[in-house]
Amino acid sequence: MALKVSCPSCGAEVVWGRDFPYRPFCSERCKLVDLGAWATEKYRVAKPHDEADEDAMRGSDSGETPGA
Ligand SMILES: [Zn+2]
Repeated sequence: MALKVSCPSCGAEVVWGRDFPYRPFCSERCKLVDLGAWATEKYRVAKPHDEADEDAMRGSDSGETPGA
């Protein structure tokens, strides 16, 4: 018997193994992606729509960083 769950990151079907290390994610990659998204979301919520504030958080005086 195998319990299947949907990966919270990509939605892929994951067979929930007893020793599966990345549950409920389908892979380590998705686990890291989800954590990264969570952190990004946290920053987005924390900071208003102001790029100057972002520079302040980075502690960088360089305003030439290409936006990504
Ligand atoms: Zn996934």
